[in-house]
Amino acid sequence: GSTIGIIGGGQLGRMLAIAAARLGYRTMILEPQADCPAAQLANRQIVAAYDDPAALHELAEASDVVTYEFENVPVSAAGMLATTVPVYPPARALEVSQDRLTEKTFLNGIGIATAGFRAIDGDADIASALQDLGGAGILKTRRMGYDGKGQRVLRGAAEIADASFSAMGNVPLILEGFVSFDREISIIAARGRDGALSAYDPAENIHRDGILHTSTVPAAISRQTADAARDTAFAILQALDYVGVIGVEFFVLADGGLLVNEIAPRVHNSGHWTEAACTVSQFEQHIRAVAGLPLGRAARHSDCVMENLIGDDVLRAGALLAEPELMLHLYGKAEARPGRKMGHFTRLTGES
Ligand code: ATP
Ligand code: MG
Ligand code: MG
Repeated sequence: GSTIGIIGGGQLGRMLAIAAARLGYRTMILEPQADCPAAQLANRQIVAAYDDPAALHELAEASDVVTYEFENVPVSAAGMLATTVPVYPPARALEVSQDRLTEKTFLNGIGIATAGFRAIDGDADIASALQDLGGAGILKTRRMGYDGKGQRVLRGAAEIADASFSAMGNVPLILEGFVSFDREISIIAARGRDGALSAYDPAENIHRDGILHTSTVPAAISRQTADAARDTAFAILQALDYVGVIGVEFFVLADGGLLVNEIAPRVHNSGHWTEAACTVSQFEQHIRAVAGLPLGRAARHSDCVMENLIGDDVLRAGALLAEPELMLHLYGKAEARPGRKMGHFTRLTGES
């Protein structure tokens, strides 16, 4: 049988390995941490750094196609693999999404609106950028941020006076204008090797302490806004000559207009509901896309709410299992550290 290589061994890699197994594939993961969530589910793990040349060679030799579960895969590693084995999504998608400045410049370049932004390369840039962007903003590290880490809201006078390049770690920054959004939504879309496009319905997302808390489907948005979100996702997929599943996060403005917040070139936490409410989940859709199979139907049979279990929330698992219309998914992580994603559940709330 065929083998799918997966770079990254977190819960997303684990769920991709399950989906791959169900379609008859073997999986080989590359992940430096031996005791990782995907290790229990993959057929094999190479325990090595993501850019280890010998490990990449071994992965390329053993795999018919290689994909990844996180956007900070070194671009050089993807490029090295791509000389001998197909790598999907393409390396260009990594390049674009690893740096918030590159990402927004790319989006604006294909006519997609984002928050206003300025590159910040030193203390001297902060005040003038803030003025350009309407007096309030969010200072973010350009690279490596997730779950709201590496961000600082600049709104009040004290926050603005305190802001400094060194307090953010002396790394390249971006200042984004502060968006007073009505709500946040995301869309999970896919493009097959043959160019076929598919999208799930948008989910409405609520964050707590910078981490996704719930995703609710349907989102409380108009049909036009939902269609615009889908068309935007499709335009991104086409511009990147993309293969696989992508997550696109949006701010919805009071008039229904959309700004893209960020894109994730992988399966996405706000798409976990699809495993409970659709025939083909985002994980299976991604495996289908990268393996060159036909995409599955993205229609949902139920409305639902997905909720993350963060840290000690996982202690609720027993009580949740007693609910009949609820699908629980745990990631097999031994230690429930604060802020750590331990699992999620999806509650079906009615037929769609
Ligand atoms: P993720 O875990 O989704 O990758 P992240 O760390 O990359 O998150 P962002 O998605 O950029 O962070 O921001 C986290 C949250 O902060 C957003 O979902 C939104 O609620 C808020 N936020 C981010 N940028 C802005 C902005 N320019 N204006 C207003 N709110 C914002
Ligand atoms: Mg992000
Ligand atoms: Mg985000």
